[in-house]
Amino acid sequence: SSAPHAQSRNPYTGEIIGAYPWADAHQVEAALASVARGAAAMRALSPDQRAALLTRLASAIRERSEEVAQTITAEMGKPILQARAEVEKSASLCEWYATHGPAMLASEPTLVENNQAAIEYRPLGPVLAVMPWNFPLWQVLRGAVPILLAGNSYLLKHAPNVTGSALLIEELMNAAGFPNGAFEVMVADNDAVSIAINDARIAAVTVTGSVRAGGAIAAQAGAALKKCVLELGGSDPFIVLNDADLDTAVRAAVAGRYQNTGQVCAAAKRFIIEEGIAPAFTARFVAMTRELVLGDPRDETTGIGPMARDDLREELHQQVQATLREGATLLLGGEKLDGPGNFYAPTVLGDVTPQMTAFRQELFGPVAAISVAKDAEHALALANDSDFGLSATIFTADEALADTLAQRLECGGVFINGWSASDPRVAFGGVKKSGYGRELSHFGLREFCNVQTVWKN
Ligand code: NAP
Repeated sequence: SSAPHAQSRNPYTGEIIGAYPWADAHQVEAALASVARGAAAMRALSPDQRAALLTRLASAIRERSEEVAQTITAEMGKPILQARAEVEKSASLCEWYATHGPAMLASEPTLVENNQAAIEYRPLGPVLAVMPWNFPLWQVLRGAVPILLAGNSYLLKHAPNVTGSALLIEELMNAAGFPNGAFEVMVADNDAVSIAINDARIAAVTVTGSVRAGGAIAAQAGAALKKCVLELGGSDPFIVLNDADLDTAVRAAVAGRYQNTGQVCAAAKRFIIEEGIAPAFTARFVAMTRELVLGDPRDETTGIGPMARDDLREELHQQVQATLREGATLLLGGEKLDGPGNFYAPTVLGDVTPQMTAFRQELFGPVAAISVAKDAEHALALANDSDFGLSATIFTADEALADTLAQRLECGGVFINGWSASDPRVAFGGVKKSGYGRELSHFGLREFCNVQTVWKN
C-alpha cells in the first residue's frame, strides 16, 4: 500500500483511531526469525498440551470479550450485538478444537502386510496468513486455531483497517501462554508479504480475501512452491422453490443477505426464486428489508451499520448502477446515504438476469439481486452460472429433490432450509474462483500438516 501507515478509521465517525507504522526490513526479519522459533516450540508440545493452550485462549477471549467486541465495532462498523456474537463464536471454536482436535491428529495404523505402517500428522512449520477485515477475530482464529493445534506457528498479516484487532489477538495469545513466536503480527504492506512468501522459513500460506488478492498471493506461493489455502469471494445462490415455507425462507434470506451489513463471503447474494412463489417472496423480502434499522453500530438496536470503508461503498454503488443500466428493476434503496458514516441503503434489485453485473460479480454489501427461475432445473442452471462456488442455499419442502440438487451444485457447502454458516463441526471452503483447500473440521486441521508415512520393515 502507498499510505505511510496502516490506518484504522472508524467507519461510523470517520475519525482515525489508529495509525501503525509498516514493519521495516529489520522488523520483517525479526518476525520471520520469531515464528521459526515459535514453530520449533509448538512442534515440541504434544497435541494435548496444545489443546490446553486453546482452552486457556478461550478463557482469555472471554475475559476481555467486551473490549474485543468494541474494538471490532470501532474498526469496521459491525453492529455491536454481531461483534459480541463473533467473539463468543471464536471462543467456542477454541474449545471445540481443544476437545475434539487431538484425536484427529492421532496416528492412523494402515493395513500393510505386517501391520507396521502408520500415517502421522506432523506440523509443517510457520504459516503466513493474509486476512480480511470483515470478521477481524473469527477469520483469523478459524485458521489459526487448527494451525496451532497441528503444531505450527502463525504469522498474521491482517487488513490494515483492523490492525488494532490484530494486536489484541496477539495479546490474547500471550495471555493464554502460547510460546514466544507461536503467533506473531506483522503490520505489513504487500511488499513485505512477498518477502515473507519467498523466505525459506515460511512453510505455507493461507489467504482469506478477494479473488484479486488470492490470485496475486497464490501466484507468488506457487512460484516459491509453497502450499496455499485460498478462501476467496462468493456470489452464493439462494434458491427458493414453489413448495418452500415462505415465512422461513424470507427470514433466512434477509438474515443471510444483510448480516454484517452484507459484507460476508458466504452470504446469500443471488436470490433465485421459482416463478410461482416469486411475487410473494419478493414482496415480503422487500418489506422485511425496509424494516432493517440503520444506525450507530454501538447501539444494540442497530441491525445495519456503516460499510467498513468508503471506497468499498463507492465500488458497490457502481455495481448497483451498472446493473440498473443493464435493465434490472430497483425495488428498494440504491443510494449512498448522507451524513457521517459509510451507510448504504439496503437495496433490492429485481429482474436480474445472468449477464448483469450483480449476477456476474460479487456484491460485498447490503444489496440483494433477485432472479426468477422457470422451474427447479432452471434454478440449478442459474445457480451454477457463476465463476464463484462458495456455498448455496435451497428452500423446498421436497427433501429428495434438495438432495439431488445439492449433488449437482458446484460449490463447497449446501444449506437446505436454513442459511449458510461456518461452524467448526463442518468443512468450509469453495470451488472455482472461490478458492481451494478447506478450513474447520478435521479437514482444516490437516490442511497444514505434513501427512507423514512411517513404515517399519
Ligand atoms: P482484499 O482486498 O482482498 O484484502 C484481503 C487481505 O489481502 C488484506 O489483508 C489485504 O491487505 C491483502 N492483500 C490484498 N492484495 C494483496 C497482495 N497483492 N499482496 C499481499 N496482500 C494482499 O479483501 P477485503 O476487502 O479485505 O475482503 C473482502 C473480500 O474477501 C471479499 O471478496 C470476500 O468475499 C472475501 N472473503 C472471503 C472469505 C472466505 O472465507 N471465503 C471470508 C471473508 C472474506 P491490503 O488491503 O493492505 O492490500
